[in-house]
Amino acid sequence: MTMTSPTPPAVSASRHPEGFWDTARRHLVRYGPAGFLPTVIDRAEGSHLFDEDGRDILDFTSGQMSSLLGHSHPAVVETVTRSISTLDHLFSGMITRPVVDLAQALAETLPPTLSKTMVLSTGGESNEAAIKMAKLYTGKHEIVSFDQSYHGSTHAAGAATYSLSRAGYGPIAPGNLIIPTPNPYRSVFRNADGEHDWQGELDFGFAMVDRQSVGSLAAFIAEPILGTGGLIVPPDGYFAALRRKCDERGMLLILDEAQTGLCRTGDWYAFQHQGVAPDILTISKTLGAGLPVSAVITSEEIEAVCAERRFMFTTTHVSDPLAAAVGLTVVNVLRDEQYDLVAREKGARLRAGLVELAARHEHIGDLRGRGLFQGVELVTDRQTKEPADEFGTTVTAECLKRGLHLNIAQMRGVNSILRIAPPLTTSVEDLDLGLEILDESLTAARETT
Ligand code: PMP
Repeated sequence: MTMTSPTPPAVSASRHPEGFWDTARRHLVRYGPAGFLPTVIDRAEGSHLFDEDGRDILDFTSGQMSSLLGHSHPAVVETVTRSISTLDHLFSGMITRPVVDLAQALAETLPPTLSKTMVLSTGGESNEAAIKMAKLYTGKHEIVSFDQSYHGSTHAAGAATYSLSRAGYGPIAPGNLIIPTPNPYRSVFRNADGEHDWQGELDFGFAMVDRQSVGSLAAFIAEPILGTGGLIVPPDGYFAALRRKCDERGMLLILDEAQTGLCRTGDWYAFQHQGVAPDILTISKTLGAGLPVSAVITSEEIEAVCAERRFMFTTTHVSDPLAAAVGLTVVNVLRDEQYDLVAREKGARLRAGLVELAARHEHIGDLRGRGLFQGVELVTDRQTKEPADEFGTTVTAECLKRGLHLNIAQMRGVNSILRIAPPLTTSVEDLDLGLEILDESLTAARETT
């Protein structure tokens, strides 16, 4: 068969002569649960997105929960510009100053037991590495997680993810087990007085794990506050009890702080609030603040045992200097400008605004979160707590129409939970504006659904 070379496309102002969306439909693979948003973003700056029609949209999802310092933060722009022209990417066995500096800077923000870092690119990848490490260290293979977890789309991270449908992709690695997510608002585990019986729920979960386990429990992987699963905040004391369950069984505790790490919740790490440090910590989205940077951090002991057993995780971009330089800049900006305290203060203002909205909008069933990581659960009736899925979708669309992008967790069973995670650099005026738009959108949605 002869191949004729295709005519090179004409690059002109009318690059999409049949229209942008027609070209997109013809050439793009669709991937998410909800398809593409009907807006074409042209430019992003700080907490604002500007579409091709010149509309100004507040970004209250920090992109994909990542743009912690807003879009195009000057310090990140400076680092990327410098790094791409002087030290971009190297052979994975070459270690550079930005990598060592980032590892040291992270260690300074963490308890002394978390001192060894590996720099990677994405969240899923960091969890792959953490799970592999846990298996190699313990010599076991079973991984337990929450039934509303999200840890990534890749092999082991995906196998430990339950907030997405698992249907359609064939067998998952054996040895993945779950316990119920401790959701104070919805749990069926209740004391006689109606309070959430989280200890009973945890005991029940581990009784099920012990019955199913083949005696090879390696690790529990958890988000300290579940993000994609519906912004669920486990009760205080829960993680100390979970830690005990792990210790009793010789399991490691892996905490995945992709969404919660690096000041967003008002602490440097969400685990600090519960006073329970993990054996392995993964951070990702917020570390790159919009760029693909992630890290796995563990103890000297775990690292040493894994190294002795020839831990293998050599990816193309492991220890990339550019990625590490960005991560280092993000950590430095957060530390120098005390963004943990900023997130606390702005988070209190956001929360107070949401409480005020809840007093006037009957559809708001529950508010939860910490710092600038807040969730609003919408229900059709506060007594029955029936999720207001359709209403939630309408509210999100009404917000976008008015210039606010916040996101509904478009996952099985959690279509009615708004996730609000603006950049930590968002001004108080913009926080108030976002609340005002949400207020108007809740009213508009009530009138149309
Ligand atoms: N862990 C958590 C808690 C996440 O929220 C995500 C992304 N939603 C991931 C891991 C996966 O990260 P990535 O998409 O960068 O692989």
